[in-house]
Amino acid sequence: MRALQDTSTAEGNPAWASFAPLCTGPIFAVARRPNSGTLPAMTIPPSIAGLPARTPEFGALLAEWANLNSGSGNRAGLDRMRAALQVAFGGLAGAVIDEPPCPGTAAALRLRLRPDAPTQILLNGHFDTVYEADDAFQTCRWLDDRRLNGPGVADMKGGLLVMLAALQAFEATPDAARIGWEVLLTPDEETGSHGSRALLREAARNNHFGLVYEPARPNGDLVHSRKGTGGVVATCRGRAAHAAKIPNDGRNAILGLADFLQAASRIPDDLRGVLVNVGNIRGGGPATNVVPDFATAELDLRITQASDRAALVARLEKIAAAINAREGFALELKITFNRPPKECVPLEEKVFAAWQEAAVVVGVPPFTWVHTGGASDGNFLSEAGLPNLDGLGPIGDHLHSSREMLFVPTIAARAQLTALFLHRVASGELALRPV
Ligand SMILES: [Zn+2]
Repeated sequence: MRALQDTSTAEGNPAWASFAPLCTGPIFAVARRPNSGTLPAMTIPPSIAGLPARTPEFGALLAEWANLNSGSGNRAGLDRMRAALQVAFGGLAGAVIDEPPCPGTAAALRLRLRPDAPTQILLNGHFDTVYEADDAFQTCRWLDDRRLNGPGVADMKGGLLVMLAALQAFEATPDAARIGWEVLLTPDEETGSHGSRALLREAARNNHFGLVYEPARPNGDLVHSRKGTGGVVATCRGRAAHAAKIPNDGRNAILGLADFLQAASRIPDDLRGVLVNVGNIRGGGPATNVVPDFATAELDLRITQASDRAALVARLEKIAAAINAREGFALELKITFNRPPKECVPLEEKVFAAWQEAAVVVGVPPFTWVHTGGASDGNFLSEAGLPNLDGLGPIGDHLHSSREMLFVPTIAARAQLTALFLHRVASGELALRPV
């Protein structure tokens, strides 16, 4: 299935902005599938059908969670947030809870239920946010009766609530005992998941499919694939001299570096799928009558396919070599890659199709999936060999800013999609593994 580019815009799709979920009450009915001429009707268990009626409860709990500061650097806040999550998820009867340590940061929260069942599904999210304890943006406010503005409401405390609500509904379905699941909530996604990466790898080994609850795009779309992320520190050394010396044997490190940065910024013109951004630059000194002998800059690198990496590195090194060929200049590159790209695999296409089908059944506006430049822990799960679907959280907008907001009715709608998916896998209607 071809992925479209992510072009969703602020405030998203009007279809979602005015969306009110179907509230069918505790007794449920039978919904017709989109192509009901050939397929039997899909039955929605009452616990899943009843989720929209719980929207006020979800809104209140989300506000409570978002009012707890859990910036990636706030260890005490992360501990408080994990404790709140443990109380909420601890209500899932029978699940074994532990708090595996993450080197360098707060512990994660992990729950497992029925780990011996033949099919295992991972639900993954993070409870850190980009808002630290000294950020001015600390509390929630309702913009109207459906939109909540607050730190982390979309990225991704709303997603954690979708996981919880979906599992509560799924566990009340008749075939739930036939599959097992793991919930892994990590404390450091926003800063690169350095402490939790080993846990993500372990989870990838123990499960057959992963569900990642980063927010949906503002128009409701899911994530088809994500770019991989990296960076380069470029440091140029030249030769200091008096600016007025004639003839001048100084070598201006700022200009040498600038030539590199200009050329590096043009790499995406013909290496498609690659992004290069010069993020900062410093060099020279206070005196302008000195030819500066030092300048350095940091660049953000993004790649679409794992195979882009070698090509991008070769291009950067070729440009650096041309600068180094100039007498008196030494340009050094430190290139690192953190998250590898998340590329789409066939099982993900199958699960996405099931997601779209479920959307029709529960009556939510249609959506597709898109390629995005931002990375998530889905990248690490893919790298470790676990196919996963990402962007399964509720619909929000303006992430990483004080305008961050969430369409609260989409919590129940998105939870219905997850719960229905789990139900179909458990009932044997949808196979994730060759039997
Ligand atoms: Zn996130």
